[in-house]
Amino acid sequence: MWTRSGHVRHSVHCVRRVFPGATRQIGARNASRTAVVLDIDGVVTRGATAVPGAAEALRRLRQQQIPFVFMTNGGGVTEKKKAEELCSLLGVDGIDADRMLLSHTPFRPLAERFREKRVLLVGSKDTAEVAESYGFDVGNMAVTSSQIVKALPEIYPWPVTHCTLPPVDVNAADAPPIEAVLIFYWPSDWAMELQAVVDDMQVVSDVLAGGRPLGVGTTGTNGTGVQCAELWSSNPDFLWQAGYPVPRFGTGAFVECLQALWKPFGRSPLEVQECGKPYAVQFQAARKLLSQLAQHDDFERIYMIGDNPAADVRGANSAGDPWRSILVCTGVYQGGVGSNDKEDPAWRVEENLPDAVESILRMSG
Ligand SMILES: [Mg+2]
Repeated sequence: MWTRSGHVRHSVHCVRRVFPGATRQIGARNASRTAVVLDIDGVVTRGATAVPGAAEALRRLRQQQIPFVFMTNGGGVTEKKKAEELCSLLGVDGIDADRMLLSHTPFRPLAERFREKRVLLVGSKDTAEVAESYGFDVGNMAVTSSQIVKALPEIYPWPVTHCTLPPVDVNAADAPPIEAVLIFYWPSDWAMELQAVVDDMQVVSDVLAGGRPLGVGTTGTNGTGVQCAELWSSNPDFLWQAGYPVPRFGTGAFVECLQALWKPFGRSPLEVQECGKPYAVQFQAARKLLSQLAQHDDFERIYMIGDNPAADVRGANSAGDPWRSILVCTGVYQGGVGSNDKEDPAWRVEENLPDAVESILRMSG
């Protein structure tokens, strides 16, 4: 379950502490073959509060020159902003964007691939800013549903709010086809986004499969439609826990809605390229970040510390060697150190982050 990590708010801290060696690179000669990947919410933070001892635990890892990065299914902001938010919340410096893997970080290389092609960006919060930071041509080749509806209000006849980008007529005769839909983050106006995405997936016939301006023709409801644009989703979580006591629908639920709406049109279910934990692509990306940080890829152990068995533990267990899953009891999992998750048992269960770090230091010492 994706938890509160996307909703971390700034809090006031009286004292800022700097990690020793915060700007020093770990040299290849003394590089640690142990590395650590940390989930954020439920491990390092709980909502807007730091888990007790979290800053000290991170300092211990730095002192021992054990490379560590953060991997969260949260997003909607740039890696830089997320790192700043975490520093502010922990009251520390020295956590930079190069240690931060968000749910949509694996979309970064897609900017190169789709640089000359039109794509549809889906997501609330700072989705446009995130896409721009990855290199997408936001507002022009990479457009939002709001831009489309601003130009063509008949697509969705209700007011578009919170859109400062210019209108884009994707039905213009010389408009390039939309070739991919990228769901960066939990969208706000589901009705508008669902309509825009399903429009984009439809084709007039097999002959036109591969893309055409949005809204040209329709398949009707005869179940012969062919998916003509790639669909990428950055987060599989159906539910997530916010301030409200009952979990809220997440990006995974949005994709389920898309599948349901596509069903009468398509001859087969929508193909979705999934990112986010527990998918392998996320764990590969985390290892790449660690390698860049450590300046080697010769890891004996990579410990994934997480609170969510279905995301953190399952992903690490599936990744195999050298990954090891450590489940902490300060978030989604509340079973205690004497137990383990039945469906996705962790390699080790620890009470909290400080205990998990001490345990890693003992094992790697
Ligand atoms: Mg978590």
